Amino acid sequence: MTFRNPAMKCRACEQRASIHMPQHKLIFCREHFLEWMLAQTARFIKKYQMFPPGARLLAAVSGGKDSLSLWDALWRLGCAVDGLYLHLGIGGEAGYSDASEQAARRFAGERGLALYVIPVQQAYGESVPQMAARTHRGRLRPCSVCGLVKRYLMNRYALEHGYDALVTGHNLDDEVGVLYGNVLAWQMDLLRRQAPVLQGGEGFVRKAKPFCRFYERETAAYALLRGIDYIEDECPFAEGSTLLENKEALNRLESLHPGMKLHFYSGFLNARAQMFGSSGTGLAEGEESGGMKRCPTCGQPTQAAGKCAWCKLVNP
Ligand code: SF4
Ligand SMILES: [Zn+2]
Ligand SMILES: [Zn+2]
Repeated sequence: MTFRNPAMKCRACEQRASIHMPQHKLIFCREHFLEWMLAQTARFIKKYQMFPPGARLLAAVSGGKDSLSLWDALWRLGCAVDGLYLHLGIGGEAGYSDASEQAARRFAGERGLALYVIPVQQAYGESVPQMAARTHRGRLRPCSVCGLVKRYLMNRYALEHGYDALVTGHNLDDEVGVLYGNVLAWQMDLLRRQAPVLQGGEGFVRKAKPFCRFYERETAAYALLRGIDYIEDECPFAEGSTLLENKEALNRLESLHPGMKLHFYSGFLNARAQMFGSSGTGLAEGEESGGMKRCPTCGQPTQAAGKCAWCKLVNP
């Protein structure tokens, strides 16, 4: 994707182009690019039957470009969508959690949207890095504990407040980065669960990823051209992660073969349909193993009898 080549004209209106997307063979001005992003978002929601019109949605927002762009797009498409921000207590030089909370609050305030904030340390006595440092799950890197905290709290919040679906800003680069890792390790359970929408079940809210077919460069362009004031810094713990390495490998392949990421992802969804009977919908976490139990402490679903992983973490 390139910006502002004066020789290029928008395919829809002949005005000077703002964006060239060779992987789609499309060139647009600002206005027509933003229009295209909204139309594509609506198309993906329908194609994968993510949620019906009128559904009450909860957007998981991090203050970054993907989640804020998604919230903006759904709002402009007329969806009823509130935001949920988890303050994980991640510091780093730039005060990552504080800065990202401010970005999410600014965004919601400017549009008059409802944003709910869960301050993890205040609510549960420890920040995510502190929880991770205490347990064997994440002394070196808190991502595994962080993933558990996010999955549990978002699911529980969405269910307790009656939302029909939780929407997340995962883009194509995120999806193929995870897919690549899961294929390398032949993680069949994880491949089975990787889908644009995870159906809700007993104790699980429905989860949808309306941006799953947009390149990261497209969501970044959407945020930029829409004037969304997002936090550019990545979480300091993301550096050096396997997901980031996978993304870099795929970026190299994409630069040699434009469109490769989208082919990889749509090819996977087709193969998925043959293997598991559905391209777009996956089962909720743990559901495929059947016989989910209930945690005696919090009542949330858990695979093994006894306390769930969250309750073991916060009430060992
Ligand atoms: S990179 Fe940061 S936000 Fe992402 S899972 Fe790890 S600790 Fe959490
Ligand atoms: Zn145009
Ligand atoms: Zn529990």
